[in-house]
Amino acid sequence: MRILVTGGAGFIGSHLVDKLMENEKNEVIVADNYFTGSKVNLKKWIGHPRFELIRHDVTEPLLVEVDRIYHLACPASPIFYKYNPVKTIKTNVMGTLNMLGLAKRVGARILLTSTSEVYGDPLVHPQNESYWGNVNPIGVRSCYDEGKRVAETLMFDYHRQHGIEIRIARIFNTYGPRMNIDDGRVVSNFIAQAIRDEPLTVQAPGTQTRSFCYVSDMVDGLIRLMEGDHTGPINIGNPGEFTMLELAENVKELINPKVKIAMVENTPDDPRQRKPDISKAKELLGWEPKVKLRDGLPLMENDFRTRLERPRKC
Ligand code: NAD
Ligand code: UDP
Ligand code: UDP
Repeated sequence: MRILVTGGAGFIGSHLVDKLMENEKNEVIVADNYFTGSKVNLKKWIGHPRFELIRHDVTEPLLVEVDRIYHLACPASPIFYKYNPVKTIKTNVMGTLNMLGLAKRVGARILLTSTSEVYGDPLVHPQNESYWGNVNPIGVRSCYDEGKRVAETLMFDYHRQHGIEIRIARIFNTYGPRMNIDDGRVVSNFIAQAIRDEPLTVQAPGTQTRSFCYVSDMVDGLIRLMEGDHTGPINIGNPGEFTMLELAENVKELINPKVKIAMVENTPDDPRQRKPDISKAKELLGWEPKVKLRDGLPLMENDFRTRLERPRKC
């Protein structure tokens, strides 16, 4: 199987590549523009005969011959997707269009990594796939969440109109090693702050919730979805729900009991609650997450300590 992974130099993409490369029958091509990703995440595969890395922006056409396309290319952290919102929406719309054109030309199956953000600030809790969402179309997050909603629409239109085989994963907050240290997402922020002895910055009110999935569980879910028989959309995430204050308390207890917790200002349109209903993933993919937050955080801490050169004090 020849597999294209767009955004494969990023956090989730590089872990997906590791898993796909374990199968000796797979050849993997990564296309990435390195906006938020890095070659360092793929260093163990560079030069491998079954691996190829292309510097490519998915808003431009791409000609390769593949059987599967995992389409991940898109910045995922709010600070990066808000940095150049026009580019973010182009990546979601033109990038997905190009990957669908490619899938159509070569007859490949394509999986889109959509997001729980398509539910916006949800009025239904927990969120299941039949909920249409509560999204601000003109807000500062819209380039990302409306962009992903258009990407989902394009996937289904190519499926209905051209018979393309599609899969849509709605990913909920994912964490683990290789996240950008300063990428602004909450788990990476808290872990880096705890290691650096800086206050954990809980954005007000701190009662907003998220549900955090460890990256190995996520990759397992994505591969099951790709190789299964269902188009989705299917939620992939961990239903364990925490307030941001609870997350901060957990990080404090596990990583640095002396660290302070500071309440800081929030950003506009921050969803107040988020928790996946994963009944569909359980039933249709036989998938559910295995790694609990309290087990995943120390694995991420080890990686951050190595990269920050701050070994644990004995
Ligand atoms: P990431 O930012 O680490 O990775 C994204 C990758 O895409 C990077 O390597 C980046 O350089 C690349 N990229 C961005 N724009 C591109 C473009 N125009 N052309 C080519 N490459 C481009 O993010 P991640 O956390 O690994 O997220 C991967 C995917 O999963 C994204 O589609 C994201 O929307 C989705 N997702 C992630 C989460 C999460 O919690 N991590 C949650 C929901 C959805
Ligand atoms: N495309 C691509 N690689 C391919 C085939 C198509 O990047 O191998 C792009 C193509 O440039 C176009 C988009 O995918 O912008 C949609 O292609 P499609 O054939 O569906 O539409 P059309 O080219 O007819 O507008
Ligand atoms: N958040 C926080 N402190 C931080 C970064 C984020 O309290 O240093 C909060 C943020 O307000 C949001 C939640 O953590 O309620 C998740 O934010 P993140 O950017 O990680 O992901 P999102 O789910 O919003 O895309």
